[in-house]
Amino acid sequence: MIPFLENKQLALIIPVYNEGKALVANFTEIKKILDEDHIKCQFHFIDDGSKDNTWEVIESLSNKHSNVSGIKFARNFGKEIALRAGIESIDADLYLTMDSDLQHPPRYIKTMLELMETQQADIIDGVKATRGKESFKHRFFAKSFYKILKSVTGLEMDNSSDFKLMNRQVIDNLREFHERNLFFRGIVSWVGFNVVTFEFDVDERKEGASHFSFGKLVFLAMSAILSYTSKPLYLTIFSGILFLIFALIMGVQTLFNFFFGHAISGFSTVILLILITGSMIMLSLGIIGVYISRIYEEIKRRPRYVIEKKL
Ligand code: UDP
Ligand code: MG
Repeated sequence: MIPFLENKQLALIIPVYNEGKALVANFTEIKKILDEDHIKCQFHFIDDGSKDNTWEVIESLSNKHSNVSGIKFARNFGKEIALRAGIESIDADLYLTMDSDLQHPPRYIKTMLELMETQQADIIDGVKATRGKESFKHRFFAKSFYKILKSVTGLEMDNSSDFKLMNRQVIDNLREFHERNLFFRGIVSWVGFNVVTFEFDVDERKEGASHFSFGKLVFLAMSAILSYTSKPLYLTIFSGILFLIFALIMGVQTLFNFFFGHAISGFSTVILLILITGSMIMLSLGIIGVYISRIYEEIKRRPRYVIEKKL
């Protein structure tokens, strides 16, 4: 047992979705490395409504090992909510969130614990040094997303990941977040505290494929921005003002032409203007609409997730 962990309970929060095929092998691998590093912990799996035998695998692991527990969602709620349910459903002193597919390599856990001890950190934040094998589109999109996020919210999260080690104080604060739409990485950097980052190399996924399609990622990105800031709403106001100024100039010019004899022949200008203002209005309404739908979601005060079974 490493000294830092003496009289501290470490919980590994692992969301899983349709990972039945690889879960035993991945669990064995994580356990083997932790045993080698003399790290004791509680494995806490969140089955995010898997349709395969994931839950049966978790049950059998829990029967074999006293330090395995889990909860099962009644349906797929998404990884963000699974992480959230994970930290809410187990008591520990230290919480480590990681993927089940070994892409957050367990060999770094020891380093993370050491960093927490030596740097007196509250959060050890895993940052992807290399992004593993990703398509150009994916890489480009991720880069642009973090750029946009930084410019509208000020949150700097380049190559951030959900591979994080947090102490109890941080978790107690995270539990106070009651919103339904949350972006786990974002709220962790929002709460502050003493954050120490460390770089890790993303390993290849051995079995199956990523659950995040391009479309799902776009949705996640939009959701992240919307849940952090209302700046896009100000953007619509600014663009409104910009178009008003433009319209005034055009209006003056039109009147000038009217009084001083030049008949207007600029049909195309009219069409262009209609198109531009039309699209600006649609865009603004869309942004406002999305915020309103979020308010609606929040005021329904539904539970954020439904747990079907517990171990
Ligand atoms: N996951 C989940 N719910 C989902 C999708 C994924 O709990 O709806 C889990 C998945 O089982 C894995 C982790 O989240 O443990 C990361 O997912 P994945 O490897 O598919 O994503 P990527 O590596 O592309 O970020
Ligand atoms: Mg993965």
